[in-house]
Amino acid sequence: MHGLGAAIFEAAGSSAKEARTIIERLAGANLRGHDSHGVIRIPRYVQWAADGLQVPNQTAEILSEQPGFAIVDGRYGFGQSIGEQAVDIGIAKARTQGVAMVALRNSGHLGRIGDWAERAADAGLVSMHMVNVRGSLLVAPFGGVSRRSSTNPFCIGAPVAGADHIVLDFATSLVAEGKALVALKGGKPLPPGAIVAGDGTITSDPAPLYGETGNTIYPDPSQGPGALRAFGDHKGFGMNFMMEVMAGALTGSGTAGALGEDQRRRFCNGMLSIYIDLDAMGGAPREMGDSFAAEVLAYVDFVKSATPAEAGGEVLVPGEPERRLKAEREATGLPLAPQAWADILATAERMKIDPARFGV
Ligand code: NAD
Repeated sequence: MHGLGAAIFEAAGSSAKEARTIIERLAGANLRGHDSHGVIRIPRYVQWAADGLQVPNQTAEILSEQPGFAIVDGRYGFGQSIGEQAVDIGIAKARTQGVAMVALRNSGHLGRIGDWAERAADAGLVSMHMVNVRGSLLVAPFGGVSRRSSTNPFCIGAPVAGADHIVLDFATSLVAEGKALVALKGGKPLPPGAIVAGDGTITSDPAPLYGETGNTIYPDPSQGPGALRAFGDHKGFGMNFMMEVMAGALTGSGTAGALGEDQRRRFCNGMLSIYIDLDAMGGAPREMGDSFAAEVLAYVDFVKSATPAEAGGEVLVPGEPERRLKAEREATGLPLAPQAWADILATAERMKIDPARFGV
């Protein structure tokens, strides 16, 4: 998958290094169980590059900065590469300042946001990431049917010395759009209530999100009469809304849309990230736990000791399901819905790439 995917992205215009970064991050999402943000995106990314919506080989530009913050323009580059660059700016600043904020605007699709929290955690930093998707209307507001926002993910990651990182990473819609795409392509079905159809019916059928494009190689989620629903009623909607305020308006990236515009806004991710250096926080005396890591580990044990709701069940903490699945899939392979695989092969064929070169 790495070889085939890298060849596809190189043919789409990326340098060998960028092509490798993109496919490793996409396949990495599959390994962690987020097939929605994995290789199923290959045909769509290639289409975006061809349409000029996502531009290969971009360097993130710092528009304005102070020691503790930067405003960064992603110049519509591939999010897998722009995300790395923006996070590295945040890591460098937090290391000198103790805390830093990076406001990223105009990034191509940033994929699985947990990647960015993990990159910061690998560098010893706690981080929080608020993300919106300008120009993507997918989610109906609480109490409404029309689309007014996107799936706007939220993520917090924390390194725990001597143990695994804790990473919370989710879309503020009940499911990420890509999960609807996976279900549409014959993969894991959606949970009940994930979709509101054009007539207001609540359903788990992904078809109303894509309309007539649902049967094509490039199902377009902007084309259907239905919408995704926010998780958690008014609370999830409120979080989804505030992602537009923080990642869209505050970064200068722009919100999902506005009244009176005849055209959909150009697609991009905005991301407001906050980085906290644990070393800088370590000096103050503590009442509980002799360090952040000790206190978190003790709390993890406390939470996991809760009586399971179902006989034989288990309480997990954020990041644990992804870590387990990664170990399992690295051992047994990466499952893909047949249609998703067929679409990747068709994309390769169109780009005159022979998959046999990569042993498939
Ligand atoms: P999800 O519903 O699978 O939730 C994932 C989170 O819940 C993880 O933190 C996971 O560790 C935790 N979790 C899952 N099961 C658990 C359990 N049983 N106990 C405890 N914790 C548990 O994720 P999602 O909402 O479908 O999002 C999928 C991915 O899509 C995310 O990586 C997100 O960043 C990405 N996304 C990206 C964009 C974008 O524009 N770039 C938009 C939306 C979503």
